[in-house]
Amino acid sequence: MHAHGTGRTPAAVPRRNTADRAALPAQASAGHRAGAADAPSLLALQRSAGNAAVTWMVQRALGGQSGAHGRRQGTPVQRSIVYAPGAGWARTNLPPDRFAALLERVSGEKAGSTFSIPYQKLYDDLQASSIETVVAEGQVSQGARAHFDPSIDGDGGTLRITQPEPNPSAAQLREFAATVTHEMQHALDSVTGRFKSQEKPQTMKERRISTELRAFGREAAAALKLALGDSYDKSQGKLSTILKGIPGDRITDERRQLAYEFHMLDSYNAKTPGKALDAFDGTLEVKRSKLLERVAGYLYQYELVTAIPTSGEALKWLRGKPEVVKKGLEEGIALFHSQRPQLRVGEAAAPQVPAPVG
Ligand SMILES: [Zn+2]
Repeated sequence: MHAHGTGRTPAAVPRRNTADRAALPAQASAGHRAGAADAPSLLALQRSAGNAAVTWMVQRALGGQSGAHGRRQGTPVQRSIVYAPGAGWARTNLPPDRFAALLERVSGEKAGSTFSIPYQKLYDDLQASSIETVVAEGQVSQGARAHFDPSIDGDGGTLRITQPEPNPSAAQLREFAATVTHEMQHALDSVTGRFKSQEKPQTMKERRISTELRAFGREAAAALKLALGDSYDKSQGKLSTILKGIPGDRITDERRQLAYEFHMLDSYNAKTPGKALDAFDGTLEVKRSKLLERVAGYLYQYELVTAIPTSGEALKWLRGKPEVVKKGLEEGIALFHSQRPQLRVGEAAAPQVPAPVG
């Protein structure tokens, strides 16, 4: 099922319920901890169950001081991203330095000068977590390229990816990276407990809308960064103008619009904190809004409403949920702001985005 018309965006992908985790190869999480293990019976259990609850028990047994969130003292390097057997493409290409090399080969651009991998920080944070994220490979429903399934207890989960088709174009790789960034934000929310009780007074379903709003902000920033580079120069004009001029093979129309909306929401929120949604009263057209279209789809998908709402109704729903605006939209805006290309200050030479390739 997808609720809002853009079949290839991550937003169109129904969140699978956690029953899907059972399909994961059982060794996936066991292999990771085996080297450090001195709790053989739990490991055996973990090997057969392969789930997060057991991982948590193993961590406790190995000396985690405060349960799932406790980092073991004296553990030099934590590696919490685990590749499931069969995730060969991801193991080879998903780590940010590897993906950068892939994109360099295809685009002829140079990592660090015209682009950087937008999920680098998320990847590092997930690696450093005490909670495991399993990367699995295979068909993700609805033709999407990546999808995060949180574990039952909301700690960690599985990032499922569909590898890009053979010989992908630079545009396809950029699309893929923006989607992965969105899903890794969900993974980070999961390992940092954003689905859990400390997020009250939001209901669980409202938390899911909030996590989407955060992921949208990060995704929009990622798409923009891949399209434009890490920074832009004043001489290029205002960001809202620059956005409109980015060639179509560098950013899709959907993400261009989403980035534009986040940029406008950001300026409204900066003007009057807490009033981001006022952007829809003037600057942003409700009917054209990709953000509201996506929210409408998720409201239906998570059964917060009984029929697919219009964008206007989605806006009304958000206006009635100040906690979702605060924890979801405003955090999404902040993520967009900090992760998008930044205005260069000073005299530094402007790295030019090269002419479109292929
Ligand atoms: Zn999402």
